[in-house]
Amino acid sequence: MPEGPEIRLAADAVQDAIAGKPTTKVWFAFEHLGIAADELTGHTVTAVETYGKAMLTRFDNGMNIYSHNQLYGVWQIADSGDYPDTKRSLRLEIRTADKMALLYSASEIEVLGDEDIADHRFIKKIGPDLLRPEVNVAVTQARFHDKKFARKKLTSLLLDQGFLAGLGNYLRSEILFVAGVHPDKRPMDCTPEQLDALGAASFNLTRRSYETRGLTADDETIKRGKALELSYRQYRWYVFNRDELPCFTCGTEILKIQAGSRRLYYCPACQAA
Ligand SMILES: [Zn+2]
Repeated sequence: MPEGPEIRLAADAVQDAIAGKPTTKVWFAFEHLGIAADELTGHTVTAVETYGKAMLTRFDNGMNIYSHNQLYGVWQIADSGDYPDTKRSLRLEIRTADKMALLYSASEIEVLGDEDIADHRFIKKIGPDLLRPEVNVAVTQARFHDKKFARKKLTSLLLDQGFLAGLGNYLRSEILFVAGVHPDKRPMDCTPEQLDALGAASFNLTRRSYETRGLTADDETIKRGKALELSYRQYRWYVFNRDELPCFTCGTEILKIQAGSRRLYYCPACQAA
């Protein structure tokens, strides 16, 4: 499942392809959105925003297309009229004179007015989005210090979009490793320094993954990984997908466990209980 950085990269691609020029066609697979399609055609996309894993395509007439990819949705960009060869089912097309953005397989697509955004059932529930410009390290750290989350396990908080929006499974393992926190802990078990470290790691790793298109490990670690002739998959992350390989920091074998029925990787020495 794509996480915040991947959704933001998809939003950037859609924005680059179609924003700032009038649409020549807007089409939805869902019949009940047909009237909205007519109202959107001829109008211009002004921005493509993300709210965690949801995307909001904004138009200059006060209307917006809300989409959530869930597990299967995927955006593709193509030259107008030149449909990719795929077995996926097309759900949304936004076409301009030269480029079109196509959303395949997603089932959650809605049209909202500007005034409906703040009250949308998903958007109003999500926590601070790590990739939005108004969010910074201090905001993120405050979430980890907030008493209302103190008793929940970090492994579930780090997947909860109501806690912080944009995190997901690989980021969860990476954040706990960089903060040096054992996966069994709750915020109430952590020192204030650990809570600050978790906040900083959540913010920094999400941004780094976005900026590098999928890396969380730092440049030095990647250099060492390449020198050891590891594959991209083995050096792009500190611990995720690295079970049975030595920890980059201490050499201890990385462990793989299940947490909330999803894979989690950690170093038993760097993240001691
Ligand atoms: Zn280690």
